[in-house]
Amino acid sequence: MFDFAIIGAGIGGSVVASILNHLGYSVALFEKLEYLCGCAGTFRRKGYYFNVGAATFVGLDGNLPLAKLKKLLNLDFPVVKIDPSLKIYIKDKTINRYQDKNMAFEEIQKAFYDKNNQKFWSTIYNTSDIIWDMLYDFLPQQSNLPDVNLIFRAFKHIDKIIKIAPYFFKNARAYALQTLNSLDKDYERFLSYHTLITAQGFLDEVNVGVASLGLTYPNLDNYYVIGGMDKACEAFVKNLKHVFRRTTVQKIRSYEDRFVLETSAGEFEAKNIVLNKTIFDLHELFDDPYIKEFSFKSQKTFSKKWGAFTMYFMVDDIFDKDFEYHHFILLDEEIPFTKSKSIFLSISAKEDSILSIENKRSITISTHSTIDEWFGLEKEEYKRRKKVVENFIIDRLHKYIPILKDAKLYNVESGTPLTFKRYTSRYMGSVGGIPVINEYFFKYPRPISPIKGVYLVGDTVFPGQGWPGVSLGAINLAKIIDKNFKL
Ligand SMILES: Cc1cc2nc3c(=O)[nH]c(=O)nc-3n(C[C@H](O)[C@H](O)[C@H](O)COP(=O)(O)OP(=O)(O)OC[C@H]3O[C@@H](n4cnc5c(N)ncnc54)[C@H](O)[C@@H]3O)c2cc1C
Repeated sequence: MFDFAIIGAGIGGSVVASILNHLGYSVALFEKLEYLCGCAGTFRRKGYYFNVGAATFVGLDGNLPLAKLKKLLNLDFPVVKIDPSLKIYIKDKTINRYQDKNMAFEEIQKAFYDKNNQKFWSTIYNTSDIIWDMLYDFLPQQSNLPDVNLIFRAFKHIDKIIKIAPYFFKNARAYALQTLNSLDKDYERFLSYHTLITAQGFLDEVNVGVASLGLTYPNLDNYYVIGGMDKACEAFVKNLKHVFRRTTVQKIRSYEDRFVLETSAGEFEAKNIVLNKTIFDLHELFDDPYIKEFSFKSQKTFSKKWGAFTMYFMVDDIFDKDFEYHHFILLDEEIPFTKSKSIFLSISAKEDSILSIENKRSITISTHSTIDEWFGLEKEEYKRRKKVVENFIIDRLHKYIPILKDAKLYNVESGTPLTFKRYTSRYMGSVGGIPVINEYFFKYPRPISPIKGVYLVGDTVFPGQGWPGVSLGAINLAKIIDKNFKL
């Protein structure tokens, strides 16, 4: 019998499995797909490899979760540092998001001159620095209720808290309007799409604290993962003895002293369970009425959910070595059937011998998408909508990144929320977790389920998505499980 059975090897499952293994627990990790890392994985199609969605790996330096975990677990990631982390296109402007804060600021000032920009961005930079600096002292967090220990821990940082308190909870758009001389549509879109891709909420939906983390992610150290993003999860699980790939957990029965997992590879027993499924999907695995109620209630409480429309193709390598890895196009108009106005393109590195082969490079494109537009359609209508979105995206790519016009595309495929549902089993194909918006800020779910011994990890049970947020959530869970775990 294992101490812990972990269901799902997304970022959350892989990271927490690795920490628990390091702490001396026996761990079994179950993943239904053939590759690890879920939404941050890499899949193979017709001989070529593509990143599923996530393509930026953030934070191996300083005080970030991955830096701490790398040291603790002695991990080696196959990465190259990238700078600028992102190239943004808006109308006729291009803005490089450099890591260096002064260089980054100059780019912003050049594109959106405002005499109060310095004041605005100083607040944003200071706030995010302070949050990263004191974050670990606020863990573990296992409840949304006020916690006496938390107040003691907060006291240690009282000087910093006093500094950011006046604006931390302010609406980020209101703060920008109040601080900047003017906030035109383009500048607002620039700010807003940073918060959308990090916190899943537009500028007017998030507070200044959350916005500061989203707006400064390009100033953290950003990396390209050689061989595909799944290699980052592979690095985490390399010391685990029991990783069951292509093994779906179908049902979990709970007994007084153990859990029995019914899987596609037979039955397994464990003393505890960690679910790396979204909070909305837990009801599928248990007959327990409390879990079912908890899961169904969460679906309603957190009704704002995003999906993604993704495109994958290979392209003739006509790009020079300095061609940026990540391109973010901000549009005036909505992409059909998505309610999104942005296109994020990531290209594989020239020197990546797994993703870039046959003198071609692998491209993953993503945009936020509403979910409703993709479910309950006749097959023909579903196909038609996909084609409309594909054509729209290709057309805008040609307009904003003209070199793509000269490059032949191969094996163009696209994915919708339905595709994400099929592969990752996420509720309605929703991705990116529960938005960290003001409406949900104090309601955000925690990693504890109604059943003793059943824990949760992933982007719907800790406020923060992607590598930094989900790995921090895994650290939080490990601290809840083992009070002696310090990081
Ligand atoms: C298009 C897109 C682009 C993104 N870009 C970035 C980026 O550049 N950088 C970044 O850091 N983040 C990015 N993100 C966010 C990031 O990918 C996610 O927040 C993160 O990967 C979520 O991890 P998770 O562990 O919560 O869950 P998931 O990735 O959903 O992992 C859950 C895993 O559980 C498995 N599973 C489910 N049910 C079962 C079962 N019954 N039995 C066994 N296994 C099961 C699934 O197959 C999956 O592998 C992006 C997300 C998307 C969708």
